[in-house]
Amino acid sequence: MDERAGQHRDDAVKTSRYRGRFAPSPTGDLHFGSLVAALGSWLRAQSKGGAWLVRIEDLDPPRDVAGAAERILATLAAFGLVPDEPVLRQSERHALYEAALRQLIARGLAFPCACSRKQLEASGGLHLASCPAPAAGTAHAWRARVPDLDLGFDDAVVGHYAQSLRREVGDFVLKRNDGLFAYQLAVVVDDAAQGITEVVRGADLLDSTPRQIWLQQALGLPTPAYLHLPLVLDEHGRKLGKSLASLPVDAGDPLPALRAALRFLGQSEHTARGSVADLLQRATNAFDIDAIPAAIPSRIVEGSD
Ligand code: GLU
Repeated sequence: MDERAGQHRDDAVKTSRYRGRFAPSPTGDLHFGSLVAALGSWLRAQSKGGAWLVRIEDLDPPRDVAGAAERILATLAAFGLVPDEPVLRQSERHALYEAALRQLIARGLAFPCACSRKQLEASGGLHLASCPAPAAGTAHAWRARVPDLDLGFDDAVVGHYAQSLRREVGDFVLKRNDGLFAYQLAVVVDDAAQGITEVVRGADLLDSTPRQIWLQQALGLPTPAYLHLPLVLDEHGRKLGKSLASLPVDAGDPLPALRAALRFLGQSEHTARGSVADLLQRATNAFDIDAIPAAIPSRIVEGSD
């Protein structure tokens, strides 16, 4: 590991209570869109003198790609983005998610549901009405019983964002009928367990945030600050998703992609020659949150397809 990066890292942990994180799903290699999220969250943590953590969100074995987590971590390291604490893996934390689910059930905030996709079609896929309790022994999901409530928050880049949980989200899934825990529950449990003070991530998750804040409140957990970065779109204006042909970034030649990611975040590119560590140091010193372009809400992105 680069000595200067290590030095900087240790200093940072000592001087601030800020804790940020990057939480990739290992469904493929690190592409440019995820590099932007990794770099944005890293820069923000460095500029606050805080800690930067990495969590592998390997909740969904059918979608996870063998070896992708290790490749993501190796690529991050090649880009000089080294976590300050051991990497956490969601696949090893099911007991915590189960305990949180039990807490919600005990409070009457989660219920078993065997509704099929087809049954939910009439309400645009949202679960809005109460449904009959599934017969004993039938496979069923667990859903959160959301209140009729507008829930808003102030994002550091996007500004105020509010959503009607009932009309726009519905009773969302906490645990699927195949026994897999949903991202929404796991992310809330882990952000709290890791003491994350600010979540910096792509704007595709902006519209997940109100339900996460509601879950935090339901579980008696603190709500971190949020900063949603603009999404990297392809030439058709579509999100550069892992399913689209988005090229992995080249771990063998990090500087061009790092500079492109800085430019994308509205930051100075620092074209002077130097190592990855030099570039990151200059980018940290010059980091300007006000220069980050405001994110595009995912509903608009989806609607533009
Ligand atoms: N694991 C999610 C993803 O890769 C990100 C979760 C988050 O940052 O809250 O899209």
